[in-house]
Amino acid sequence: MEQLISLCKRRGFIFQGSEIYGGLAGTWDYGPLGSELKRNIQNAWWNMFITSREDMYGIDAAILMNQNVWKASGHVAGFSDPLVEDIVTQKRYRADHVLEEHNIDPKGMSIEMMSKAIADHKLKSIDGNAFGEVRTFNMMFQTNIGAIQDGTSVSYLRPETAQGMFVNFKNVVDSLHPKLPFGLGQIGKAFRNEIAPRDFVFRSREFEQMEIEYFVKEEDWQGRFADWMVAMYAWMDVVGIPRTKVHELEVAPEDLAHYSKRTMDFEFDFPFGRKELYGLAYRTNFDLNNHAAASTVPLYVVDDETSEKIVPHCIEPTFGLDRTILAVLASAYHEEGEGDDKRVVLKLKSNIAPYKVCVSPLLRNKPELVDKARALYSVMKKVFGNVTWDDNGNIGKRYRRQDEIGTPYCITVDFDTLADDTVTVRDRDTANQDRVAIADLENFLKEKFQ
Ligand code: ATP
Repeated sequence: MEQLISLCKRRGFIFQGSEIYGGLAGTWDYGPLGSELKRNIQNAWWNMFITSREDMYGIDAAILMNQNVWKASGHVAGFSDPLVEDIVTQKRYRADHVLEEHNIDPKGMSIEMMSKAIADHKLKSIDGNAFGEVRTFNMMFQTNIGAIQDGTSVSYLRPETAQGMFVNFKNVVDSLHPKLPFGLGQIGKAFRNEIAPRDFVFRSREFEQMEIEYFVKEEDWQGRFADWMVAMYAWMDVVGIPRTKVHELEVAPEDLAHYSKRTMDFEFDFPFGRKELYGLAYRTNFDLNNHAAASTVPLYVVDDETSEKIVPHCIEPTFGLDRTILAVLASAYHEEGEGDDKRVVLKLKSNIAPYKVCVSPLLRNKPELVDKARALYSVMKKVFGNVTWDDNGNIGKRYRRQDEIGTPYCITVDFDTLADDTVTVRDRDTANQDRVAIADLENFLKEKFQ
Protein backbone atom coordinates (compact mmCIF):
# COMPACT_ATOMS: atom_id res chain seq x y z
CA MET A 1 0.00 0.00 0.00
CA GLU A 2 2.82 2.39 0.86
CA GLN A 3 4.49 1.81 -2.52
CA LEU A 4 1.21 2.46 -4.28
CA ILE A 5 0.53 5.68 -2.33
CA SER A 6 4.07 6.86 -3.02
CA LEU A 7 3.73 6.11 -6.75
CA CYS A 8 0.39 7.96 -6.83
CA LYS A 9 2.02 11.07 -5.36
CA ARG A 10 5.32 10.87 -7.26
CA ARG A 11 3.68 10.42 -10.66
CA GLY A 12 0.76 12.80 -10.25
CA PHE A 13 -2.16 10.42 -9.70
CA ILE A 14 -3.44 11.34 -6.21
CA PHE A 15 -2.31 13.97 -3.69
CA GLN A 16 -3.35 14.68 -0.11
CA GLY A 17 -6.04 17.40 -0.14
CA SER A 18 -4.78 20.93 0.77
CA GLU A 19 -1.29 19.46 1.18
CA ILE A 20 0.72 22.71 1.39
CA TYR A 21 -1.40 23.72 4.40
CA GLY A 22 -0.71 20.47 6.19
CA GLY A 23 -3.58 18.63 4.52
CA LEU A 24 -7.26 18.21 5.35
CA ALA A 25 -8.07 14.78 6.76
CA GLY A 26 -10.28 12.62 4.58
CA THR A 27 -9.81 14.63 1.38
CA TRP A 28 -7.75 13.72 -1.70
CA ASP A 29 -6.99 15.60 -4.90
CA TYR A 30 -6.59 13.80 -8.20
CA GLY A 31 -3.59 15.07 -10.17
CA PRO A 32 -3.13 15.15 -13.95
CA LEU A 33 -2.80 11.37 -14.37
CA GLY A 34 -5.33 10.51 -11.66
CA SER A 35 -7.96 12.75 -13.19
CA GLU A 36 -7.41 11.13 -16.62
CA LEU A 37 -7.79 7.69 -15.05
CA LYS A 38 -10.88 8.79 -13.12
CA ARG A 39 -12.47 10.34 -16.19
CA ASN A 40 -11.78 7.24 -18.28
CA ILE A 41 -13.46 5.08 -15.64
CA GLN A 42 -16.45 7.44 -15.40
CA ASN A 43 -16.81 7.46 -19.19
CA ALA A 44 -16.58 3.66 -19.39
CA TRP A 45 -19.27 3.35 -16.70
CA TRP A 46 -21.56 5.92 -18.33
CA ASN A 47 -21.12 4.27 -21.69
CA MET A 48 -21.76 0.75 -20.37
CA PHE A 49 -24.73 1.53 -18.13
CA ILE A 50 -26.37 4.59 -19.71
CA THR A 51 -25.46 5.34 -23.34
CA SER A 52 -25.35 1.78 -24.65
CA ARG A 53 -28.64 0.71 -23.03
CA GLU A 54 -32.19 1.51 -24.05
CA ASP A 55 -33.62 1.19 -20.55
CA MET A 56 -31.32 3.64 -18.74
CA TYR A 57 -31.43 7.43 -18.32
CA GLY A 58 -28.74 9.72 -16.94
CA ILE A 59 -29.26 12.27 -14.16
CA ASP A 60 -27.04 15.06 -12.84
CA ALA A 61 -28.81 16.39 -9.74
CA ALA A 62 -27.76 19.25 -7.44
CA ILE A 63 -25.61 18.34 -4.45
CA LEU A 64 -27.64 20.63 -2.17
CA MET A 65 -31.23 19.52 -1.75
CA ASN A 66 -34.25 20.58 0.26
CA GLN A 67 -33.75 19.36 3.85
CA ASN A 68 -37.07 17.51 3.64
CA VAL A 69 -35.49 15.08 1.17
CA TRP A 70 -33.14 13.89 3.92
CA LYS A 71 -35.92 13.78 6.51
CA ALA A 72 -38.05 11.58 4.25
CA SER A 73 -35.14 9.32 3.31
CA GLY A 74 -34.37 8.64 6.97
CA HIS A 75 -30.90 10.22 6.85
CA VAL A 76 -31.60 13.04 9.35
CA ALA A 77 -32.80 10.55 11.94
CA GLY A 78 -30.58 7.61 11.19
CA PHE A 79 -27.53 8.17 8.98
CA SER A 80 -25.04 7.69 11.76
CA ASP A 81 -22.05 5.65 12.84
CA PRO A 82 -21.21 4.54 16.41
CA LEU A 83 -18.68 6.92 17.93
CA VAL A 84 -16.46 6.30 20.95
CA GLU A 85 -13.94 8.68 22.53
CA ASP A 86 -10.61 8.12 24.26
CA ILE A 87 -11.44 9.61 27.70
CA VAL A 88 -8.02 11.27 28.03
CA THR A 89 -7.13 12.55 24.54
CA GLN A 90 -10.75 12.86 23.31
CA LYS A 91 -9.60 11.23 20.06
CA ARG A 92 -12.58 9.74 18.24
CA TYR A 93 -12.92 6.20 16.94
CA ARG A 94 -15.58 4.14 15.13
CA ALA A 95 -16.77 1.81 17.89
CA ASP A 96 -17.52 -1.01 15.42
CA HIS A 97 -13.99 -0.74 14.01
CA VAL A 98 -12.50 -0.84 17.54
CA LEU A 99 -14.44 -4.07 18.18
CA GLU A 100 -13.46 -5.61 14.83
CA GLU A 101 -9.80 -4.85 15.50
CA HIS A 102 -10.11 -6.93 18.68
CA ASN A 103 -11.82 -9.79 16.80
CA ILE A 104 -15.25 -9.01 18.26
CA ASP A 105 -17.96 -9.04 15.60
CA PRO A 106 -20.08 -5.87 15.98
CA LYS A 107 -22.75 -7.00 13.48
CA GLY A 108 -26.25 -6.68 14.87
CA MET A 109 -25.03 -4.91 18.05
CA SER A 110 -26.92 -1.90 19.42
CA ILE A 111 -25.06 1.15 20.77
CA GLU A 112 -25.56 -0.15 24.33
CA MET A 113 -24.21 -3.59 23.41
CA MET A 114 -21.10 -2.01 21.87
CA SER A 115 -20.52 0.09 25.01
CA LYS A 116 -20.82 -3.04 27.14
CA ALA A 117 -18.50 -5.10 24.90
CA ILE A 118 -15.83 -2.36 24.99
CA ALA A 119 -16.12 -2.10 28.80
CA ASP A 120 -16.29 -5.89 29.40
CA HIS A 121 -13.16 -6.54 27.31
CA LYS A 122 -11.43 -3.48 28.83
CA LEU A 123 -10.48 -2.30 25.34
CA LYS A 124 -8.02 0.58 25.12
CA SER A 125 -7.34 3.26 22.49
CA ILE A 126 -4.05 3.29 20.54
CA ASP A 127 -2.80 5.75 23.18
CA GLY A 128 -3.49 3.15 25.89
CA ASN A 129 -6.48 4.95 27.49
CA ALA A 130 -9.97 3.74 28.30
CA PHE A 131 -12.99 4.60 26.13
CA GLY A 132 -16.15 6.45 27.16
CA GLU A 133 -19.71 5.45 26.23
CA VAL A 134 -20.56 4.71 22.61
CA ARG A 135 -22.98 7.19 21.02
CA THR A 136 -24.35 7.80 17.55
CA PHE A 137 -22.81 10.40 15.30
CA ASN A 138 -24.70 11.72 12.25
CA MET A 139 -22.36 11.72 9.29
CA MET A 140 -24.08 14.38 7.19
CA PHE A 141 -22.28 17.70 6.67
CA GLN A 142 -24.78 20.39 7.59
CA THR A 143 -24.80 23.88 6.09
CA ASN A 144 -27.12 26.86 5.79
CA ILE A 145 -28.57 28.26 2.61
CA GLY A 146 -28.94 32.04 2.20
CA ALA A 147 -28.21 35.01 4.44
CA ILE A 148 -30.63 34.22 7.27
CA GLN A 149 -29.83 31.22 9.39
CA ASP A 150 -32.74 29.47 11.03
CA GLY A 151 -34.33 26.03 11.01
CA THR A 152 -35.60 26.50 7.47
CA SER A 153 -32.21 27.42 6.03
CA VAL A 154 -30.60 24.10 6.96
CA SER A 155 -29.32 21.94 4.14
CA TYR A 156 -26.82 19.11 3.82
CA LEU A 157 -24.10 18.11 1.42
CA ARG A 158 -25.61 14.92 -0.01
CA PRO A 159 -24.25 11.75 1.62
CA GLU A 160 -25.27 9.66 -1.42
CA THR A 161 -26.36 10.35 -4.99
CA ALA A 162 -29.38 8.02 -4.81
CA GLN A 163 -31.91 10.55 -3.48
CA GLY A 164 -31.28 12.88 -6.43
CA MET A 165 -32.70 10.14 -8.62
CA PHE A 166 -35.75 9.34 -6.48
CA VAL A 167 -36.80 12.99 -6.30
CA ASN A 168 -36.47 13.31 -10.09
CA PHE A 169 -38.44 10.14 -10.76
CA LYS A 170 -41.62 12.03 -11.69
CA ASN A 171 -39.73 14.51 -13.88
CA VAL A 172 -38.24 11.69 -15.92
CA VAL A 173 -41.52 9.77 -16.16
CA ASP A 174 -43.39 12.90 -17.27
CA SER A 175 -40.76 14.01 -19.78
CA LEU A 176 -39.52 10.75 -21.31
CA HIS A 177 -42.37 8.31 -20.55
CA PRO A 178 -40.15 5.27 -19.91
CA LYS A 179 -41.73 1.85 -19.54
CA LEU A 180 -40.85 -0.58 -16.74
CA PRO A 181 -38.27 -1.83 -16.21
CA PHE A 182 -36.09 1.27 -16.52
CA GLY A 183 -33.32 2.87 -14.53
CA LEU A 184 -31.75 6.18 -13.65
CA GLY A 185 -27.99 6.49 -13.28
CA GLN A 186 -25.83 9.22 -11.83
CA ILE A 187 -22.16 9.91 -11.19
CA GLY A 188 -21.33 12.53 -8.59
CA LYS A 189 -19.81 13.66 -5.34
CA ALA A 190 -21.03 12.47 -1.96
CA PHE A 191 -19.93 13.72 1.44
CA ARG A 192 -19.79 11.89 4.76
CA ASN A 193 -18.24 13.20 7.92
CA GLU A 194 -16.47 9.88 8.55
CA ILE A 195 -15.30 9.56 12.15
CA ALA A 196 -12.00 8.02 11.11
CA PRO A 197 -11.14 8.44 7.43
CA ARG A 198 -8.39 5.99 6.48
CA ASP A 199 -6.84 3.63 3.98
CA PHE A 200 -6.04 6.26 1.35
CA VAL A 201 -9.06 6.97 -0.88
CA PHE A 202 -10.96 3.95 0.48
CA ARG A 203 -12.64 5.91 3.25
CA SER A 204 -12.68 9.65 2.72
CA ARG A 205 -15.03 12.47 3.65
CA GLU A 206 -15.58 13.65 0.09
CA PHE A 207 -15.81 10.96 -2.55
CA GLU A 208 -17.62 10.03 -5.72
CA GLN A 209 -20.32 7.49 -6.39
CA MET A 210 -21.69 5.93 -9.57
CA GLU A 211 -25.20 4.78 -8.71
CA ILE A 212 -28.20 3.27 -10.44
CA GLU A 213 -31.81 3.10 -9.32
CA TYR A 214 -33.47 0.44 -11.45
CA PHE A 215 -37.29 0.40 -11.28
CA VAL A 216 -39.13 -2.90 -11.74
CA LYS A 217 -42.47 -4.52 -11.08
CA GLU A 218 -42.47 -6.06 -7.62
CA GLU A 219 -42.83 -9.62 -8.93
CA ASP A 220 -39.72 -9.20 -11.13
CA TRP A 221 -37.27 -8.10 -8.46
CA GLN A 222 -35.43 -11.39 -7.99
CA GLY A 223 -34.69 -11.87 -11.69
CA ARG A 224 -33.53 -8.27 -12.06
CA PHE A 225 -31.36 -8.53 -8.95
CA ALA A 226 -29.64 -11.55 -10.55
CA ASP A 227 -29.21 -9.63 -13.85
CA TRP A 228 -27.50 -6.78 -12.02
CA MET A 229 -25.11 -9.14 -10.29
CA VAL A 230 -24.02 -10.37 -13.72
CA ALA A 231 -23.74 -6.77 -15.00
CA MET A 232 -21.60 -5.74 -12.02
CA TYR A 233 -19.12 -8.53 -12.69
CA ALA A 234 -19.08 -7.57 -16.39
CA TRP A 235 -18.18 -4.03 -15.28
CA MET A 236 -15.28 -5.31 -13.19
CA ASP A 237 -13.95 -7.02 -16.34
CA VAL A 238 -14.19 -3.72 -18.24
CA VAL A 239 -11.90 -1.90 -15.79
CA GLY A 240 -9.62 -4.83 -14.95
CA ILE A 241 -10.72 -5.76 -11.41
CA PRO A 242 -9.98 -9.50 -11.26
CA ARG A 243 -13.01 -11.59 -10.25
CA THR A 244 -10.71 -13.78 -8.16
CA LYS A 245 -10.16 -10.85 -5.78
CA VAL A 246 -13.90 -10.13 -5.41
CA HIS A 247 -16.08 -11.90 -2.84
CA GLU A 248 -19.83 -11.80 -2.40
CA LEU A 249 -21.18 -11.09 1.07
CA GLU A 250 -24.89 -11.65 1.54
CA VAL A 251 -25.89 -9.14 4.24
CA ALA A 252 -27.65 -10.96 7.08
CA PRO A 253 -31.34 -10.03 7.61
CA GLU A 254 -30.61 -8.42 11.01
CA ASP A 255 -27.92 -6.18 9.43
CA LEU A 256 -29.98 -4.97 6.47
CA ALA A 257 -30.59 -1.23 6.16
CA HIS A 258 -34.15 -0.28 7.14
CA TYR A 259 -35.18 0.08 3.47
CA SER A 260 -33.64 -3.12 2.13
CA LYS A 261 -35.02 -6.65 1.77
CA ARG A 262 -31.82 -8.03 0.27
CA THR A 263 -28.32 -6.59 0.00
CA MET A 264 -25.24 -8.13 -1.54
CA ASP A 265 -21.89 -6.51 -0.82
CA PHE A 266 -19.04 -7.11 -3.22
CA GLU A 267 -15.86 -7.16 -1.20
CA PHE A 268 -12.41 -6.78 -2.67
CA ASP A 269 -9.04 -7.97 -1.39
CA PHE A 270 -7.52 -4.52 -0.82
CA PRO A 271 -3.88 -4.41 0.35
CA PHE A 272 -5.21 -3.61 3.87
CA GLY A 273 -7.78 -6.42 3.93
CA ARG A 274 -11.08 -7.61 2.47
CA LYS A 275 -13.46 -4.63 2.42
CA GLU A 276 -16.61 -3.44 0.66
CA LEU A 277 -16.08 -2.31 -2.92
CA TYR A 278 -19.65 -2.19 -4.27
CA GLY A 279 -23.16 -2.90 -3.08
CA LEU A 280 -26.34 -4.22 -4.66
CA ALA A 281 -29.57 -3.60 -2.74
CA TYR A 282 -33.23 -4.37 -3.26
CA ARG A 283 -34.85 -1.26 -1.75
CA THR A 284 -38.50 -2.28 -2.33
CA ASN A 285 -40.62 0.82 -3.06
CA PHE A 286 -39.65 2.38 0.25
CA ASP A 287 -38.05 5.51 -1.25
CA LEU A 288 -40.78 6.39 -3.75
CA ASN A 289 -43.50 5.79 -1.15
CA ASN A 290 -41.73 7.90 1.44
CA HIS A 291 -41.06 10.80 -0.92
CA ALA A 292 -44.63 10.66 -2.22
CA ALA A 293 -46.00 10.81 1.32
CA ALA A 294 -43.61 13.55 2.51
CA SER A 295 -43.86 15.76 -0.59
CA THR A 296 -47.58 14.97 -1.23
CA VAL A 297 -46.68 14.45 -4.90
CA PRO A 298 -47.79 10.99 -6.11
CA LEU A 299 -44.91 8.98 -7.58
CA TYR A 300 -45.98 6.14 -9.86
CA VAL A 301 -46.03 4.83 -13.42
CA VAL A 302 -49.11 3.69 -15.32
CA ASP A 303 -48.98 0.06 -16.42
CA ASP A 304 -49.37 -0.22 -20.20
CA GLU A 305 -51.42 -3.40 -20.12
CA THR A 306 -53.71 -2.86 -17.13
CA SER A 307 -53.69 0.98 -16.89
CA GLU A 308 -53.04 0.44 -13.21
CA LYS A 309 -50.95 2.95 -11.24
CA ILE A 310 -47.83 1.17 -9.96
CA VAL A 311 -45.26 2.37 -7.45
CA PRO A 312 -42.30 0.42 -8.84
CA HIS A 313 -39.79 -1.42 -6.71
CA CYS A 314 -36.14 -0.57 -6.94
CA ILE A 315 -32.86 -2.44 -7.37
CA GLU A 316 -29.82 -0.30 -6.55
CA PRO A 317 -26.35 -1.21 -7.82
CA THR A 318 -23.89 1.24 -6.28
CA PHE A 319 -20.25 1.70 -7.25
CA GLY A 320 -17.78 3.84 -5.30
CA LEU A 321 -15.62 5.56 -7.89
CA ASP A 322 -12.63 6.14 -5.59
CA ARG A 323 -12.77 2.54 -4.35
CA THR A 324 -12.87 1.45 -8.00
CA ILE A 325 -9.73 3.49 -8.67
CA LEU A 326 -8.00 1.98 -5.65
CA ALA A 327 -8.99 -1.58 -6.63
CA VAL A 328 -7.86 -0.94 -10.23
CA LEU A 329 -4.51 0.51 -9.14
CA ALA A 330 -3.88 -2.21 -6.55
CA SER A 331 -4.67 -4.91 -9.15
CA ALA A 332 -2.51 -3.28 -11.82
CA TYR A 333 0.55 -2.66 -9.63
CA HIS A 334 3.41 -5.09 -10.32
CA GLU A 335 7.08 -5.14 -9.47
CA GLU A 336 9.11 -7.29 -11.84
CA GLY A 337 12.74 -8.29 -12.37
CA GLU A 338 15.79 -7.88 -10.16
CA GLY A 339 18.60 -5.34 -9.73
CA ASP A 340 19.06 -3.06 -12.73
CA ASP A 341 16.27 -4.91 -14.56
CA LYS A 342 13.77 -4.18 -11.81
CA ARG A 343 10.72 -2.32 -12.95
CA VAL A 344 7.43 -1.14 -11.50
CA VAL A 345 4.63 -1.55 -13.99
CA LEU A 346 0.98 -0.55 -13.80
CA LYS A 347 -0.78 -3.11 -15.97
CA LEU A 348 -3.84 -0.93 -16.51
CA LYS A 349 -6.31 -1.91 -19.22
CA SER A 350 -5.74 0.32 -22.24
CA ASN A 351 -9.33 1.67 -22.16
CA ILE A 352 -8.65 3.38 -18.82
CA ALA A 353 -4.89 4.07 -18.92
CA PRO A 354 -4.17 7.82 -18.52
CA TYR A 355 -2.08 7.76 -21.69
CA LYS A 356 -2.68 5.27 -24.51
CA VAL A 357 0.63 5.88 -26.24
CA CYS A 358 3.95 7.67 -25.67
CA VAL A 359 5.88 9.05 -28.65
CA SER A 360 9.65 9.68 -28.42
CA PRO A 361 12.54 10.56 -30.69
CA LEU A 362 15.49 8.21 -30.07
CA LEU A 363 17.70 11.24 -29.34
CA ARG A 364 16.46 14.67 -28.35
CA ASN A 365 19.42 16.55 -29.89
CA LYS A 366 18.82 15.37 -33.47
CA PRO A 367 16.36 17.83 -35.03
CA GLU A 368 15.50 15.48 -37.91
CA LEU A 369 14.37 12.81 -35.40
CA VAL A 370 12.56 15.32 -33.20
CA ASP A 371 10.67 16.85 -36.17
CA LYS A 372 9.60 13.47 -37.46
CA ALA A 373 8.52 12.34 -33.96
CA ARG A 374 6.64 15.62 -33.31
CA ALA A 375 4.69 15.20 -36.55
CA LEU A 376 3.79 11.63 -35.58
CA TYR A 377 2.84 12.78 -32.05
CA SER A 378 0.34 15.29 -33.49
CA VAL A 379 -1.26 12.62 -35.66
CA MET A 380 -1.44 10.12 -32.79
CA LYS A 381 -2.99 12.74 -30.49
CA LYS A 382 -5.71 13.40 -33.05
CA VAL A 383 -6.46 9.69 -33.34
CA PHE A 384 -6.07 8.51 -29.72
CA GLY A 385 -6.44 11.69 -27.65
CA ASN A 386 -4.46 10.77 -24.57
CA VAL A 387 -0.98 10.54 -26.06
CA THR A 388 2.13 11.78 -24.27
CA TRP A 389 5.54 12.97 -25.41
CA ASP A 390 8.79 11.99 -23.69
CA ASP A 391 12.29 12.91 -24.83
CA ASN A 392 14.03 12.91 -21.44
CA GLY A 393 16.94 10.59 -20.62
CA ASN A 394 17.71 7.44 -22.53
CA ILE A 395 15.13 5.18 -24.10
CA GLY A 396 15.36 2.56 -21.31
CA LYS A 397 14.53 5.16 -18.68
CA ARG A 398 11.60 6.42 -20.75
CA TYR A 399 10.19 2.91 -20.96
CA ARG A 400 10.48 2.54 -17.16
CA ARG A 401 8.73 5.88 -16.63
CA GLN A 402 5.88 4.93 -18.94
CA ASP A 403 5.61 1.43 -17.38
CA GLU A 404 5.15 3.07 -14.00
CA ILE A 405 2.18 5.15 -15.15
CA GLY A 406 0.64 2.35 -17.19
CA THR A 407 1.13 3.61 -20.77
CA PRO A 408 0.40 0.52 -22.90
CA TYR A 409 2.61 1.39 -25.92
CA CYS A 410 5.74 3.46 -26.56
CA ILE A 411 6.59 4.51 -30.10
CA THR A 412 10.19 5.43 -30.89
CA VAL A 413 11.31 7.33 -33.97
CA ASP A 414 14.92 6.42 -34.83
CA PHE A 415 17.34 6.73 -37.76
CA ASP A 416 15.70 3.84 -39.62
CA THR A 417 12.44 5.78 -39.49
CA LEU A 418 14.03 8.50 -41.61
CA ALA A 419 14.97 5.90 -44.23
CA ASP A 420 11.93 3.59 -44.32
CA ASP A 421 9.09 5.26 -42.37
CA THR A 422 8.86 2.52 -39.78
CA VAL A 423 8.90 2.93 -35.99
CA THR A 424 9.51 0.72 -32.97
CA VAL A 425 6.39 -0.06 -30.95
CA ARG A 426 7.14 -1.41 -27.49
CA ASP A 427 4.52 -3.31 -25.49
CA ARG A 428 4.35 -2.40 -21.77
CA ASP A 429 3.41 -5.85 -20.45
CA THR A 430 5.65 -8.11 -22.54
CA ALA A 431 8.40 -5.53 -23.27
CA ASN A 432 8.33 -6.95 -26.84
CA GLN A 433 9.20 -4.56 -29.64
CA ASP A 434 7.62 -4.57 -33.12
CA ARG A 435 8.76 -2.70 -36.16
CA VAL A 436 5.66 -1.12 -37.72
CA ALA A 437 5.21 1.08 -40.81
CA ILE A 438 3.87 4.53 -39.86
CA ALA A 439 1.12 4.02 -42.45
CA ASP A 440 -0.07 0.91 -40.54
CA LEU A 441 0.37 2.35 -37.05
CA GLU A 442 -3.20 3.49 -36.45
CA ASN A 443 -4.68 0.11 -37.37
CA PHE A 444 -1.95 -1.77 -35.52
CA LEU A 445 -2.70 0.07 -32.28
CA LYS A 446 -6.48 0.06 -32.71
CA GLU A 447 -6.34 -3.71 -32.99
CA LYS A 448 -4.26 -3.92 -29.81
CA PHE A 449 -6.72 -1.67 -27.96
CA GLN A 450 -9.76 -3.83 -28.80
P1 ATP B 1 -18.83 1.35 4.49
O1 ATP B 1 -19.57 0.24 5.20
O2 ATP B 1 -17.48 0.92 3.94
O3 ATP B 1 -18.78 2.64 5.26
P2 ATP B 1 -21.29 1.86 3.19
O4 ATP B 1 -21.94 0.50 3.24
O5 ATP B 1 -21.69 2.89 4.16
O6 ATP B 1 -19.69 1.67 3.20
P3 ATP B 1 -22.81 2.71 0.96
O7 ATP B 1 -23.65 3.62 1.78
O8 ATP B 1 -23.39 1.43 0.48
O9 ATP B 1 -21.43 2.40 1.74
O10 ATP B 1 -22.19 3.56 -0.24
C1 ATP B 1 -22.11 3.07 -1.56
C2 ATP B 1 -20.67 2.99 -2.04
O11 ATP B 1 -20.00 4.24 -1.86
C3 ATP B 1 -19.81 1.98 -1.28
O12 ATP B 1 -19.96 0.69 -1.83
C4 ATP B 1 -18.42 2.53 -1.50
O13 ATP B 1 -17.89 2.06 -2.74
C5 ATP B 1 -18.64 4.02 -1.58
N1 ATP B 1 -18.30 4.67 -0.29
C6 ATP B 1 -19.04 4.74 0.82
N2 ATP B 1 -18.45 5.45 1.79
C7 ATP B 1 -17.26 5.87 1.27
C8 ATP B 1 -16.19 6.66 1.78
N3 ATP B 1 -16.23 7.19 3.00
N4 ATP B 1 -15.13 6.90 0.96
C9 ATP B 1 -15.08 6.39 -0.29
N5 ATP B 1 -16.08 5.63 -0.82
C10 ATP B 1 -17.15 5.37 -0.06
